[in-house]
Amino acid sequence: MIIRKAELETVCGITSTLPENLLPEFAFAGKSNVGKSSLINGLLNRRALARTSSQPGKTQTINFYNVNDDLYFVDLPGYGYAKVSVEVKAKWGKMIERYLKKSQMLKCIFLLIDIRHDPSANDKLMYDWIVSNGYKPVIIATKLDKLKRSQIQKHVKMVREGLGLEKEDVLIPFSAETKQGRDEIWALIESLQNP
Ligand code: GDP
Repeated sequence: MIIRKAELETVCGITSTLPENLLPEFAFAGKSNVGKSSLINGLLNRRALARTSSQPGKTQTINFYNVNDDLYFVDLPGYGYAKVSVEVKAKWGKMIERYLKKSQMLKCIFLLIDIRHDPSANDKLMYDWIVSNGYKPVIIATKLDKLKRSQIQKHVKMVREGLGLEKEDVLIPFSAETKQGRDEIWALIESLQNP
């Protein structure tokens, strides 16, 4: 995929009206620090378009990135963020649910899981929630470069079993360091973009 344009077009806070976009949307969900910004930047060949956790002032918003005027990447707020109160977390849950229910153009939700760790209760909730909203999540197992080659298969199995994935559910290991998995993710996006 050649990236001619990648621009942050809309930023939504808790009370914002969600945009009614006319282009296909691809959403990214995952717990804070899982590598969501790094994945988005890696897919778009940008160093710092999506803000990474290490940058101060990263706020909880839903960000819509216009890609080539062909599609949108939708960066959902990371869950499990320690500094956020229970009430704010609940509000964000509602906001994400509103987005999942309202978007007419959402083609796919990528759920990011750190390949090193067992999925958490929140990861499992998110997976079940996506499924119960009628979507088939695609799992991106992030930080692949942190494992030895010999460990990969075991960890893929651990993530699949931890989430309770079905056989046909797609899991793509990805590394923002080596960009392994990038072509596979783009191939999937392109296949869903114009079915
Ligand atoms: P976010 O909170 O989900 O947006 O996560 P970030 O993209 O900010 O990543 C959190 C931390 O993990 C940062 O220090 C990144 O540099 C690091 N990170 C993200 N992806 C990878 C990866 O594929 N490999 C390695 N080694 N580190 C990563």
